[in-house]
Amino acid sequence: MKIGILCGHPIKDLFDSNEQVVIDTAFGSVVVRLGRISGHDVFFINRHGNEGTLPPHKVNYRANIQALAASHIDCVISIGTVGSMKDEIRVGDFVIPDDFFDATRTRPATFFDDQRVHVDMTDPFCPSLRNLICSNCESIKDITLHKKGVYLTTEGPRLESAAEIRFFSSVGDIVGMTLAPEVILSREKGLCFASICVVCNMAAGLQERLPVDDIKRIYAEKEVYLSDILQRTVKMISKDTDCLCKKKMKDAML
Ligand SMILES: [Zn+2]
Repeated sequence: MKIGILCGHPIKDLFDSNEQVVIDTAFGSVVVRLGRISGHDVFFINRHGNEGTLPPHKVNYRANIQALAASHIDCVISIGTVGSMKDEIRVGDFVIPDDFFDATRTRPATFFDDQRVHVDMTDPFCPSLRNLICSNCESIKDITLHKKGVYLTTEGPRLESAAEIRFFSSVGDIVGMTLAPEVILSREKGLCFASICVVCNMAAGLQERLPVDDIKRIYAEKEVYLSDILQRTVKMISKDTDCLCKKKMKDAML
């Protein structure tokens, strides 16, 4: 099996290899780190570019997903750091989103600019992949897990105002800047997709200040768990899935 991982940071000890390739796409080139976990091929992309410097609204989302699709990967696991908009979701918790709300404004969010394609996003995440990730999170006792949650994606790069968070919290549980359009573009390519979110702060108005150093600090604390979850999950991924991720794309062409 081939598994794609999208992340905004390196993940220490995920695999040993230093091998990397550059994949050219119609949208630009993408550097992909190649590794092996339990006999499966892993394609790791820093979504913010090889240097990790592109801000969320400038990430080349289409190139990243196209590079994975062109590599014939079977599924995508997207790692994100988020803010919590709900009291019951606390800093350091893990959330496996089951839905999303796209509040971005400027980024290209489709591969279909010259074709009438209306992809079904009723159930945007692969249920099989989500369940596998959730069960592996549950087997790690130090993780506080939320097996569901609505991820609201903002345009960034600024953080949200307190008024925006009051409004957004009526539809979302966590807020971040990258899940859309990754989830949309993956569905358009018929790829199984799921996300693991690490809560790094409470959103605006729910804590006094929002220093971005908190994101780095909390991520560094949780990185070891991410590596563990990914290794367990990749090991157990199977082609025997009854999900409809590929079929939903076939049903989307008008
Ligand atoms: Zn699937």
